[in-house]
Amino acid sequence: MSTVSSPASSSSSNQALPLATRADSLVGSVIDSSTTLLAAYTHDIVKFGMGAPAPDMLPSTEFARIAKSVFSPESFTYGETQGEPVLIDALLNYLQDTQQIPEEHFGNRERLVITSGGMQGLDLGFKLFVSPGDLVFCESPTYTNGSATALSYEAEVVEVPVDHEGMQVDELDELVARAGRAPKVIYTIPTFQNPAGVTMSLERRQRLLEFAHRHNSVILEDNPYGTLRFSGESIPTLSQLSPNDPLIFGVRTFSKFVAPGLRIGWLDIDPEIRGLVINAKQTMDTCTSVPTQHMVAQWLNEGGANDHVDYLRGAYLERKKTMATGLEALFGDEVRSTDPDGGFFLWVTFEDESINTEDLMPVALEEGVAYIPGPAFSPAGAFTNALRLCFASNAPERIDEGLQRLRTAVDKYRNQ
Ligand code: PMP
Repeated sequence: MSTVSSPASSSSSNQALPLATRADSLVGSVIDSSTTLLAAYTHDIVKFGMGAPAPDMLPSTEFARIAKSVFSPESFTYGETQGEPVLIDALLNYLQDTQQIPEEHFGNRERLVITSGGMQGLDLGFKLFVSPGDLVFCESPTYTNGSATALSYEAEVVEVPVDHEGMQVDELDELVARAGRAPKVIYTIPTFQNPAGVTMSLERRQRLLEFAHRHNSVILEDNPYGTLRFSGESIPTLSQLSPNDPLIFGVRTFSKFVAPGLRIGWLDIDPEIRGLVINAKQTMDTCTSVPTQHMVAQWLNEGGANDHVDYLRGAYLERKKTMATGLEALFGDEVRSTDPDGGFFLWVTFEDESINTEDLMPVALEEGVAYIPGPAFSPAGAFTNALRLCFASNAPERIDEGLQRLRTAVDKYRNQ
């Protein structure tokens, strides 16, 4: 029974809203809220916070042309929950052309389900495998919205440390012993991790698979950045290492190599669970935006992704180098930073542990530069002396300008 007074009886009530218990677990996203935070500032801010491609690098002109040819009454009605067949076919061709996908893996097109962005994929994964109180392992640091989604299903989240080779898989058995139980889900971003930028080594990937099979744990493999490798040798995804593995729930997205505003992603999952995924998605949004799916399909079929991804790789390598060089020149030994071979992020840690990047943030914003403070990437609020910088969103000159402003902000913060 509702405890909120009806409009007829009173327009105000002293009673608390009868929220569900899970409402307490909705922790919000510091990353997403930063867009609103920054909108309140009127002076120029170099944005290193949000993990978004630069607006001028998005293929919006091609999409405007494509929209004219694919927008039709048919593409403006409801579509199939699992995705428009035209997009599933185009995606399969693209994946087969560009990745070493074992034949037996994608021989079955039932593996693919189109989602409304990678976030919906994460939501579907945690929804299907996590009951309240279940254990979920995530990397530490991890993608805020990923751990927040696990928490929203009332998981108990345990953080597994990350080093330059990704998740420290040799810690897993100890964490199981300490918890007295195995995780239902292991949430990992093995390639160009968000926020750390590191990539899990092949050997650790194999050990992670072995661990998951020993404990019957699902691996939620979140891989939004894998396409964006600009240096080094590629390492197979967990799905590629263990094709047709029912324990791997692969979450993918077009957000980082096409455009995040499209809100289109896909799942690479065991066909056995497809029916449940579809049932769950039906309660969320019926289907992913149909005209947008048709546009992406056409763009893929025209070969748009090939040139665009090459262009992004070249630009992001230059931007990463600019940021790494600038950090070295301006901060030297004061900080240590990761050196990714792809993706969007540098993870920067101040050697001086007394620097608190949440307290530094208002000073940085005043100086005209934004980043995401380290504690946002840890459910326990660790990494107080670290921050995440996105190198993808700004041209090299703006990166230099932003780092200069960060330097000034750190000096002011120290002298406060
Ligand atoms: N996972 C990770 C690791 C991400 O960085 C992001 C986007 N920041 C997502 C998932 C969500 O992607 P999408 O925008 O497609 O929902």
